[in-house]
Amino acid sequence: MELTGKNIAIGKISDNLRFEQRELRCAQCGEPSPESMTSYFIFMRHGQTLLNEQGIIVGSIDDPMSEAGFAQAREAAERWKEKVELIVSSEMIRAKQTADIFKEKFDVPIEYDHRLRERCVGADEGKQDEVPGTSSPLHDLFLREDYQPKCATPLKEFEEETKEFLRDAAEKYKGKHVLFITHGFRLLTIIKLIRGWDVGRITKYKLPANCEAAGFYAGEACVTCGNRFYEEKNKAK
Ligand SMILES: [Zn+2]
Repeated sequence: MELTGKNIAIGKISDNLRFEQRELRCAQCGEPSPESMTSYFIFMRHGQTLLNEQGIIVGSIDDPMSEAGFAQAREAAERWKEKVELIVSSEMIRAKQTADIFKEKFDVPIEYDHRLRERCVGADEGKQDEVPGTSSPLHDLFLREDYQPKCATPLKEFEEETKEFLRDAAEKYKGKHVLFITHGFRLLTIIKLIRGWDVGRITKYKLPANCEAAGFYAGEACVTCGNRFYEEKNKAK
C-alpha cells in the first residue's frame, strides 16, 4: 500500500472473496498470517475543509468540510466497493460530516472514538504549511520528536494514544469490516505503528490526501513479533 493521493481502498477487495484465499503477511515482520484472520479495517482521512484548501495547518481547529469536501466524500462513498459493517469516527466535525455521508450510503451504525482525533499542533495551527526559507513542509516536522511547537500534544503521547487505540480496536471489532474516519497525521501515525516504521521511513510518505484510505487485516498476534495487523503479501514490506 502506497499513499499516492488516490483512494487506494476503493475497489481493492470484493465482498465474496474469503480471507483464507489471500496470502497475508504480518505488516511488521512479513511472517505469513495465522489462520484466524477475521477483521478488515480501513482507515480513511476526512473530506477537504476550507483551511485544507488554503494549505493551512488545521490540527485541533474544528474546521468543517467545504463544498468540495462534501462532493469528495459523496464521490468516495458512491464508488466504494468494500464491505462496511460499522463506522468508527473521530468526533471532530470534518470527520463526522464524512462519516454521516458513508452512514447514509451503507446504513450502518456509527461509533465515535476521541483517539481518532487529529493531533493538536499548538502554535503551528493556522500557519501556512511551509517553513520560510526551507523546502520542508511542516507536516514532515510534526513526525519528528525533536520538533515540538508550543502547546502541541507531544508526539510520544499522540503515538501512545494511537497505539492504545489500535490495540483496543483489534479486540473490540474482532471479525468486523470497519471503516474508521480519521485525520491526516493520525492516519500517518496509524500506518507508521502498524508497519513498525521509523521516522525516516514515514517521512518519505506524503500526508494522505482527503478521503484517501489504507486497509489492513487484523487478527491474532503474529507469532514472531506480536503485531496484530496484516496485509497482502506483495503489499507488505
Ligand atoms: Zn510479525
